Amino acid sequence: MAKREILAPSMLATLFVYTIIPWVNFDGIHFLMFHFEQHRFEFLFMAFETSTHQLIYIVLTLFIGLILTLNFTLSRFFCGYYCPSALATIIHLKFKNPFVLFAVIFSLAFLLAFSTVAYFSPAYELLIHFKEFGMAAIFVGIIATLFTSIFLLFRGWYCSILCPYYFISAILPQEEKQTFEFKDKESCIECNKCVKICPVDDLDIKNGFDERCVQCGLCEIACEDVMMKHSNKHSLISKREKDKSPLNNFSKNGLVIGIIVFVIMIGIVYFLLDNSLLDYCYFENKVLYR
Ligand code: SF4
Ligand code: SF4
Repeated sequence: MAKREILAPSMLATLFVYTIIPWVNFDGIHFLMFHFEQHRFEFLFMAFETSTHQLIYIVLTLFIGLILTLNFTLSRFFCGYYCPSALATIIHLKFKNPFVLFAVIFSLAFLLAFSTVAYFSPAYELLIHFKEFGMAAIFVGIIATLFTSIFLLFRGWYCSILCPYYFISAILPQEEKQTFEFKDKESCIECNKCVKICPVDDLDIKNGFDERCVQCGLCEIACEDVMMKHSNKHSLISKREKDKSPLNNFSKNGLVIGIIVFVIMIGIVYFLLDNSLLDYCYFENKVLYR
């Protein structure tokens, strides 16, 4: 258990950065904001007037670019160290009472949902929508419910089938995807606790590499419990020594490709901002905010 608790700070730091960014603004212009209501893209405290069409393309470009950059640099380590789903895994281990577990998971889901919507509608305005029970508030509620059900019921299934990050990581040719290894076959008592606890269906870490592994570390913890009781030994499954620090998990080649992807992504966004071809398409978004 202790090993996973050490990982919690990297996940909490990611969550903190994700939730704080929508609040950061200078004179009303945000660090990053896709302001659909005002037809404005705000970045680095600068505001660019855009059409709705341009904004949609910018959101998609940045989203795909971010996933690609993270995939090339962090690969599956992102799943185990930084993804909120991994934080949900730790919460599952810490809180056994179902009511407390639900309350903590729902709070996490709500925070994530609120922050996600706050990238598209300023956070302080969102608070007002909450007071008035506006459309944006309902939207936050729907996303929070979706996150809660993923974290409570479909975590492994979502991670290995639906997650766009996983989809791209599965098709990219990268070697360093698996960090957990099964080391001591002779000591294994074949209890299969590691297989039963794994959130991914039919994944047996004892058979070696499987790129569906979401790096959650539950198998390591399950085996630690079994082995401690059975023979006072440590887990037969563990992270490879070189993978134990999140800082070691950057792939050098991936970092170069990630930087290239990032530069291309910024180039596309610049092109979209500078291109008047899309300007004709203005939708009236205000109805979303009533
Ligand atoms: S939990 Fe440990 S002892 Fe049990 S089957 Fe898995 S590796 Fe073997
Ligand atoms: S093999 Fe272990 S680390 Fe990988 S998903 Fe299953 S339980 Fe998590």
